[in-house]
Amino acid sequence: MLDEEERLRKEIVEVSRRLYEKGFMAGTGGNVSAKLPNSRSILTTPSGVCKGYLKPSDIVKVDFEGKVIEGRLKPTSETPMHTLIYKTRPDVNAIIHAHPPFCTGFACAGMPIDSSVFPGAIVIVGEIALVEYATPGTEDLAMKVSEAAKTHDALLLQNHGTVTLGASLEEAYLKTEVLEETAQILLISSLLGGFKPLPETEVKKIRLMTTKNEQNT
Ligand SMILES: [Zn+2]
Repeated sequence: MLDEEERLRKEIVEVSRRLYEKGFMAGTGGNVSAKLPNSRSILTTPSGVCKGYLKPSDIVKVDFEGKVIEGRLKPTSETPMHTLIYKTRPDVNAIIHAHPPFCTGFACAGMPIDSSVFPGAIVIVGEIALVEYATPGTEDLAMKVSEAAKTHDALLLQNHGTVTLGASLEEAYLKTEVLEETAQILLISSLLGGFKPLPETEVKKIRLMTTKNEQNT
């Protein structure tokens, strides 16, 4: 169990560094968490610290009610959002909240991101929810995000950023990366005269192929 916790702490540090270096978490923004197996507790990034240079000992352990179990730093101010998603979605083991600039541009324009424009987004990200604005760090935001998380693994938070969910940290990371790629593709195709979503039959076909592949692995 301790080995697994140590592994998760190192993985959170590594994923946070990748997110920072990609420009998805500028300043001290964004947060990453992972659920500890067989326990109602999580590991999360600390508040008010740049996510590019974390150490495993900076990661904070909190229970599902947000109470700190272990750590010398304050947990992320978005802890209520993370814990409520884990309570709502028992299949989720990792959550990333970031401010990728292209996605956040769409979020600030109140414009949804349509994942049906190219197969990569359909396979990796799935349908993307647009969540109504709520003040960061509040129960209101936690409620709105966890409600949308019942049916989506990728969420766009109005005037704020993104949330992606995964069975692992790597899966949640890949969803953030491909979500941002999708936002870039949509913006570029809009500049080139408008994007053309794939026909619904093709989207369904790709979704079905993805489900079958998942069942085979
Ligand atoms: Zn944020």
